[in-house]
Amino acid sequence: MPVTVNPDLQAIIDRITADMEGREDRGKVADYIPGLARVDPRHFGIAIATHDGRIISAGDATTAFSIQSVSKVFALTIALGKVGDALWKRVGREPSGNAFNSIVQLEAEQGIPRNPFINAGAIVVSDIILSGHRPGEAIGEILRFVRDLAGDDDISIDEDVARGEAETGYRNAALAHYMRSFGNIQHPVEQVLGVYFHQCALAMTCIQLAKAGRYLMLEGQHPETGFNVVSPTRARRINALMMMCGHYDGSGEFAFRVGIPGKSGVGGGILCVVPGIASIAVWSPGLNERGNSTLGSLALEKLAAATGWSIFNERDPG
Ligand code: GLU
Repeated sequence: MPVTVNPDLQAIIDRITADMEGREDRGKVADYIPGLARVDPRHFGIAIATHDGRIISAGDATTAFSIQSVSKVFALTIALGKVGDALWKRVGREPSGNAFNSIVQLEAEQGIPRNPFINAGAIVVSDIILSGHRPGEAIGEILRFVRDLAGDDDISIDEDVARGEAETGYRNAALAHYMRSFGNIQHPVEQVLGVYFHQCALAMTCIQLAKAGRYLMLEGQHPETGFNVVSPTRARRINALMMMCGHYDGSGEFAFRVGIPGKSGVGGGILCVVPGIASIAVWSPGLNERGNSTLGSLALEKLAAATGWSIFNERDPG
């Protein structure tokens, strides 16, 4: 199917949203973080920021939710800006094929996490962002960065979610201590986890998230200032990592069904990037057995089918 750059997106997402709203099978809301367990599974929202500056949305697109692991994309972008490709000495670039919080691979691989989008990798990224800062400053830097990308100062961190994560984050603490024993965490574990938990607790709406992802559709360029957030090469590489590693051990299935680079979080959000065309955010809190939003994944599959936006579709050779 050829790519449709400017289809009637509003009609398409209205149809998808009506379809999603009628679905019974929504998966299970994550309950291991107290603040997430209370979220109503009936939510569904979608927003698309297009290459030509339009914002199209449907459903609960203006309700803030916990972006959780979607934040790993923004944190990686900041850390690459600080240390450049030296980051790849401390974090790999391979799909893990394991759950997001798995510890087993770390032993065999000497404390070097498989990729920056599993928890262990993201905790190393937090350690990098913490360099030369106090934890509060590092958290402030992440918040400012995301606000700037979205062009929206209303984005905030849900302190209740961050606190809940700190109180129940035994597995993440284990990962961090374990990596510290290999020398791959350089700051006190409590500080690194403080940064990590606050980053995961960013609360954003679909519209804010789709806007924050625009630099990745625009070869790294900030849509409003025109400055490079990252170089075109780095934007392509972040998209490649999202494609290969963005959905925990469900990444292959997502590529198979949707074919668009994306990053999901256990809050039920997914950010997807169609290079040159669109930045898309969907949210529905119920998760499938791999920890990815059930309806979010389905909606993206339907959107890709209706628009031809899979990156494996035929492109105009120009
Ligand atoms: N803060 C969550 C955790 O570390 C993030 C999980 C996720 O969204 O993948 O457990």
